[in-house]
Amino acid sequence: MSAENNEKKLERLRHSAAHLLAHAVSELYPDTKLTIGPATKEGFFYDCLPTTNFKEEDLPAIEQRMREISKRNLPITHKQISKKEARELYKDNPFKLELIDQIPGDTVGLAQQGDFYDLCRGGHVYSTGKIKHFKLLGLSGAYWRADKKNQALQRISGTAFPTAKELEQYEQRKADALKYDHRKLGKQLDLFSFHEEGTGFPFFHAKGKKVLNLMSDFLRKKLEDAGYLEVSTPMMLNDDLWRRSGHYDHYKDNMYFCTIEEKHYAIKPMNCPGMIMIYKERPRSYRELPLRMSEFGLVHRYELSGVLHGLFRARAFTIDDGHIFCMPNQIEDEVLTTIKMTYDVLKRFGFKDIDVRLSTRPKNSMGSDELWNKAIKALENALKKADVPYIVQEGEGAFYGPKIEFHIQDSMGRTWQCGTIQVDFFLPERFDLSYIASSGKKERPVMIHRAIYGSFERFLGILLEHYKGRLPFWLAPVQAKVLTITDKQKDYARSVMNTLKESGIRIEMDESSDPIAGKIKTAQLEEVPWMLILGDKEIANNTATLRYLDGKQEFGLTIAQLLEKAKSL
Ligand SMILES: [Zn+2]
Ligand SMILES: [Zn+2]
Repeated sequence: MSAENNEKKLERLRHSAAHLLAHAVSELYPDTKLTIGPATKEGFFYDCLPTTNFKEEDLPAIEQRMREISKRNLPITHKQISKKEARELYKDNPFKLELIDQIPGDTVGLAQQGDFYDLCRGGHVYSTGKIKHFKLLGLSGAYWRADKKNQALQRISGTAFPTAKELEQYEQRKADALKYDHRKLGKQLDLFSFHEEGTGFPFFHAKGKKVLNLMSDFLRKKLEDAGYLEVSTPMMLNDDLWRRSGHYDHYKDNMYFCTIEEKHYAIKPMNCPGMIMIYKERPRSYRELPLRMSEFGLVHRYELSGVLHGLFRARAFTIDDGHIFCMPNQIEDEVLTTIKMTYDVLKRFGFKDIDVRLSTRPKNSMGSDELWNKAIKALENALKKADVPYIVQEGEGAFYGPKIEFHIQDSMGRTWQCGTIQVDFFLPERFDLSYIASSGKKERPVMIHRAIYGSFERFLGILLEHYKGRLPFWLAPVQAKVLTITDKQKDYARSVMNTLKESGIRIEMDESSDPIAGKIKTAQLEEVPWMLILGDKEIANNTATLRYLDGKQEFGLTIAQLLEKAKSL
């Protein structure tokens, strides 16, 4: 069955589960006013107004009643009734009356199962008995029509799946997400921490900084190979620049300001204006285009303390920023190279499921039709040439140009937007950028903003959760740990460690006198990918026993064999 059909089936099931929930609520709490209850990406919910607020403790009884109604195996039917009839049915429910008024035409749809009915457009499973594998997930607050000025409601959320196995997998993923929260892993693995003294600003410890450096080294090499020039621009720039770039008008509330010698400055929330200053520093010729600049630029953005979330949402982070200044007819090639590099990089980090979206021209956009059409065509051609499936998000582009987004799926089935390629007609205009064309005439370049990680720090958080703390060998801050059976082997251990260290392996030695089982336990908690266990036998043969985190062991490996192995990872 195609993915789309599966999606439709799942939506039908979850939509029906929402009715089942409402049915259970109306049996247990008949005075509750039901409002709306759609299927969602995660499951379903129903918003209602009970006479007394529901508590978490009420959910098991509601879920139990849902199971009972499911067992009754009531056929679910759907028909159109007149609005007059509907208004009569809902005469005590102002929410449903409002909905009825807003539905065009003279009739409305009504779903029915047993003596329960609900206003609805249709699209159900055949009977309540088909809804078997579901679970209520929680209670939260909501507002009628999602507007804070309206009546406050209570939302009951749940999820449903076609099979018990899928529900189980979902619950496992939820449990894993809690267990492998990157904030917890950051502490456990001594990577980073957060402190009140700098709310929302991460402190990277030596090991965390090591991983960030490895990510930089890896990407820097790729960028150099692709012809990027790495630059560095100031952390603070004056007001005039931010007014000119439009940030002052549109982004002021998220920026930090300060005053020096009575002049106003802002800490950069983005790197683009700084890089534009470098482009503008002298006249540019068409021969220099495309001009590709990269900066691993630390930006600061004010976020409400309530929305901060570890490395996922912090007040400072480093963008693997890149800006390409090019002629319109160069967009396609540049985008194609960027798409390929993005896939290359993401693959190295173990992400295979990448969902690509192309956002096209919104209303109230700037730039000519010709330029927009050209740019969108270029992005589409590049995606096709790269043989990348994508979906089009009609009208979802920025007002200043179309863009491509890359969403990656992690091991717990969650998706994260990381990379973007954004075409920009606005900033070149705003900063009056130009180049001298082959004709000798002054022309306006196009700017492409692109990033692969997005934010180094957030990407690290995603990696930690994706790998459940077990970073792959090439990214591990400590790749190997030498563990001796007794103190007797320590001299040999030191020589093994030094040889491997000289060959670039990040290696440490457990200097404690703990029994070997204790040393293994410690290394395991530190998620060190390789444990090199050394006893008398290893000394006699000049070898090591290699133990992995999953407990597998390889015996009698020489140093040369270890190095060979390390190189392949
Ligand atoms: Zn329905
Ligand atoms: Zn930019």
